[in-house]
Amino acid sequence: MLKVIFDYESARAKAYTVSNPEEKKNHSVIYRMDKQKWSCDCKWNTLKETYCSHIKETIKYENKKKAERLAKKLGIK
Ligand SMILES: [Zn+2]
Repeated sequence: MLKVIFDYESARAKAYTVSNPEEKKNHSVIYRMDKQKWSCDCKWNTLKETYCSHIKETIKYENKKKAERLAKKLGIK
């Protein structure tokens, strides 16, 4: 299971740390808002065109947060 921690948000980017307890490694995932691009510092991401598991997990995390915000707005628990 990957764990996503939101680090910070700047005018141009959002940064996250994704940790994998099995690998005992942390990866930095960054979303560049100006380019609308995700990037990660793991090997997979530098070798492949497709998103690595860290980016996919971060997108899932973002979608979940969005859904929670919307639910709050609508008064749904
Ligand atoms: Zn990665």
